[in-house]
Amino acid sequence: MKLNPTTILSLAIAATISFSASAQYKLPEIHKKEQSGLIAGQVNTKRQIKAQGNANYLNLILPGQNTSIEDIDVNESNWDSQSVNPYKDANVPDKKVIDVSDFAMPCNGHVTSPYGYRAQFGRMHRGVDLKASIGDTIYAAFDGKIRLTRFEKKGYGYYVVIRHSNELETIYGHLSRFLVKPNQSVKAGDPIALSGNTGRSTGPHLHFETRFMGYAINPAAIFDFDNKTVHTDYYTFNKSTYQDARDFSPNANKTVAEHRTAPVKSKAAAAPQKAAKKVKVKKGDSLASIAHRHGTTVDKLCRANGISKKAKLKAGQTLKVG
Ligand SMILES: [Zn+2]
Repeated sequence: MKLNPTTILSLAIAATISFSASAQYKLPEIHKKEQSGLIAGQVNTKRQIKAQGNANYLNLILPGQNTSIEDIDVNESNWDSQSVNPYKDANVPDKKVIDVSDFAMPCNGHVTSPYGYRAQFGRMHRGVDLKASIGDTIYAAFDGKIRLTRFEKKGYGYYVVIRHSNELETIYGHLSRFLVKPNQSVKAGDPIALSGNTGRSTGPHLHFETRFMGYAINPAAIFDFDNKTVHTDYYTFNKSTYQDARDFSPNANKTVAEHRTAPVKSKAAAAPQKAAKKVKVKKGDSLASIAHRHGTTVDKLCRANGISKKAKLKAGQTLKVG
């Protein structure tokens, strides 16, 4: 072989590659063992994503992040693992200010069909449809607890209902796979399912509903889907103006979004200035339960006390709230 400069260069490159490749594969014993464990665990990825294996799976792909979730406090009156609306006999308050500041987008897609009356089908569309391909990950919109996972052939298909600590419920329809099971606690942004095309659906998408005690609120009045955020930190549910919000006209969606709750200027300005209240931690309390009891959020509690979200609470310890 004639060694011209190009040949020499390619030989040198090949040598470097094979050298670095062989260097790379000389794994220390301890890593070898770990690696074969991982490979063995990857034989059937589908089986790994079963609900009961979800936390383990996430621990595997997100090492160092604690994916086991403490029990999240939700109001468990009218708790039901069968019906979409278990609040039929409940006393719904006239007005409720709902903290939506701790949120996650249920999926990345934009709105393909708005909330409102669908004249061509003669029925109400109680949520929004969001663009999603089969197998896209669907996320919990807020902290909460899975109330039900069910199948409805002529409607939602495979669907999940989550009750949140802010007292909203969210519904996710036409799914292909559940990643959670009933009574499981989830944090905002946790994967709960994979999207699909099950039930009464003409193409893959996510049907997403937000409800307060059975009243379907236009999700676009809470979420700004274009900008992947919420319009304001608080959504005010008002029974007396609820009919406006569910106005039987598809165009009303825009109006509802514009009509959304006036922004709270600042949390300090909204409430008269007062010294921070202190509360004693009781046995079994979590940051979430304390935040819920005192109408605040875990984030604000942590900020006020200079502690992390994962801080372990001790009974008798005092925390500043508000
Ligand atoms: Zn829909």
